[in-house]
Formats: sequence, structure tokens, C-alpha cells
Amino acid sequence: MKKNIAVIRGDGIGPEIVNEALKVLDAVAEKYGHEFIYTDVDMGGCAIDKWGEPLPKEMLDKCLASDSVLLGAVGGPKWDGVPGDKRPEKGLLSLRGGMKLYSNNRPAKLWKQLADASPLKPSIVDNGIDFIVVRELIGGVYFGSHTTEEKNGEAVATDIMEYSEHEIERIGRIGFETAMKRRKKLTSIDKANVLDTSRLWRKVMHRLSEEYPEVEYSDMLVDNAAMQIVKDPSQFDVIVTENLFGDILSDEASMITGSIGMIPSSSLGETSCGLYEPIHGSAPDIAGQNLANPIGTILSAAMMLRYSFDMAKEADDIEAAVTKALDAGLRTGDIMQDGCTKVGCKEMGDAVVGYIG
Ligand code: NAD
Repeated sequence: MKKNIAVIRGDGIGPEIVNEALKVLDAVAEKYGHEFIYTDVDMGGCAIDKWGEPLPKEMLDKCLASDSVLLGAVGGPKWDGVPGDKRPEKGLLSLRGGMKLYSNNRPAKLWKQLADASPLKPSIVDNGIDFIVVRELIGGVYFGSHTTEEKNGEAVATDIMEYSEHEIERIGRIGFETAMKRRKKLTSIDKANVLDTSRLWRKVMHRLSEEYPEVEYSDMLVDNAAMQIVKDPSQFDVIVTENLFGDILSDEASMITGSIGMIPSSSLGETSCGLYEPIHGSAPDIAGQNLANPIGTILSAAMMLRYSFDMAKEADDIEAAVTKALDAGLRTGDIMQDGCTKVGCKEMGDAVVGYIG
């Protein structure tokens, strides 16, 4: 299969970690006879330096013309002083908006080799943590109107939370489709005992669930979900929820798995063209020193294969290769443990490539 991938190396450790992910993609392409064509896209601080803005239109167009986008990270102290609408992170927001990405998908997986990094008790961790949070990204209270006015001699602030049926249905569908590609279990999280938006959310989700009889579907209130994620995370496969709840729960979910350098993410919209990136930033403190952990980016590439290119076997291969590198005791500095071998970013990438076989 031939696929065009827009590649945003970005700033800080971005170029280093993306290089390793591309090496892994090349190994997969060779093994399975695929052709991945990479188009470099400037975004973030490097685009400001070169073009005077964080995401020039022709760069966005390159992303829109691709089958999917792989991103390292953007930003850094060099651009801290530039005005808000010219900051590197503005490039990221413009990219998400330009690609109409309404779904952010973040796996929470605890690698058993790194179990010590989890803040949870071994008795909980031993049951396994492997779920994904599907968060609605461009609706809800973050996108409603925000006002602050004087009433009866004091300031009163209001934020409007609004969801329409089609917004719920399209994110709900991503939840069900994601579950179909995993263990076929979906938990929809809302606050239907209080909020009208949640009652509508639940109604639409129930209607959708009839289209997916193979998926074991359940509802959970958000306050209970916040407790269940730390009490028994092994019960979850796919969680789908609205923007505000997802913002909070996806951070909670990342935290229980340990290292920030290990976690990939995807953002999807109407088409199969998605944006794939690790959840961490550009780590300027370790940039250019071969110290970064490339696994979050490598696993983001695996997600691209699984969710945008329907290459499940190839994605499984990458995840298995990461497992083998960890089993062999290889660790970058951020996940280093006693008795393990400390390696650099490049060596970790080489090891994963070696295990693709
Ligand atoms: P950060 O995630 O870059 O770094 C936080 C800490 O984690 C640092 O100590 C860093 O060394 C470490 N770390 C992060 N990724 C690592 C990896 N792969 N391997 C090893 N260690 C890793 O967060 P920050 O320091 O708050 O932000 C730095 C810059 O990144 C800022 O300019 C910020 O705006 C930007 N940022 C970009 C994105 C993005 O591109 N999506 C996301 C978050 C932050």
C-alpha cells in the first residue's frame, strides 16, 4: 500500500524523536511491501524563523493533501517572547482547526516492565492498564460563549456548554469504531443526573449503540469515572466523553501509567487523515543531546497505521518491538531503572527497528 505522510519535526527534541519513528515506519514498509512517502512540513518555532509565522498556509495545505500527519513537538524558550497569535503552539491549534479534528484519542497503557513508574499500588497495577480515552475536542463549554458582567454589585461569570446531536454522534461513532478495533468495550462518560447536555449525550449514545451490537456498551457518571480510573483501571477498554470531562480524565489516565515519554496520541476528524503525536512537549532541556525517549512518537506512528491506514498487523508489530526493547532492559534516561541499560534516543530507535524483524 502507498501512503503519503506529512512529517512535522518541529522544535527541541522533535527532529530527534521523529527520525526514530520514521526509521521504524521504514522497517515496517520494507517488511510488508508498503511505500510511505514523507513530505516535510515546517510548523512551530522553526517555521517562525523561516517563514515568519508558525503554520504558513502552504504548510497546512501539505497536511491536508496527505493521508496523515506525524508530529514531533513544537515550542521552546526561544519563541517565548513572540506575540500570542505568532507563538509556535498557535501553529498546532491552526493545524487542528484546519484539519477539522474533533476527536482526541489518548491511550493509557502501563507497560509491565515500567510498572514501578505508576503511582498506583501493585495490587491494582497487576490487573493491567490498557485503555484509550476518546475526547471530543472542538465543542462543549470550551467553545461556548464566555461572559463576565456586573450584577447586583458583583462580578458574575458565565460559560455556556452546548452540544448538538450531530456533534455527539460523530464523536460517539469514533468511540464505537475504536472499540471495534480493540476489545469491543465502550464506556460513555457523562453527568446525566445533572446536565441537559449529558442527557442528550446519553440519548444519542444509546441510539448509536444499536448500530454496534458487538460492542459491550455502558454509561458512567464522570465523578464515578474519576474514582474508577484509579480504583480499577483494568475495567476500561475505550472511554468516550465530552471536551471538559475528557480534558481532565485523559490527564488522570496518563498519570497512572508513569512516563510522559511513552504516551502517543491521535486526533481524528471526518476523514481517515489524522494527526499523530506524542503527548509531551519539545523538552528543550534535553534537546540535541540524544537523550529523548522516542517511544511516544514511535507508538504514535503505530496508531497512525492502526487507525488511519487499517494496518493492524503492522501496528501490532511495532508495539511488540517496543515491548521487546523494554524486555531487553533498554531504557532512555526518563525511564531508567536499576539493572537496566541506559541508551540514547537513536539507540532506542535502532533497537525497535531491530525487533521489527
Ligand atoms: P515537556 O513535555 O516538553 O517537558 C516536560 C519534562 O518532561 C522535561 O523535563 C522534559 O525533559 C521531559 N520530557 C518530555 N518529553 C520527553 C521525552 N520524550 N523523553 C524524555 N524526557 C522527556 O513540557 P514543557 O517543558 O512544559 O514544555 C516545553 C515546550 O514544549 C514549551 O514550549 C511548550 O509550550 C511546548 N509544548 C508543546 C507541545 C506539543 O508540541 N504538542 C505539548 C506540550 C508542550
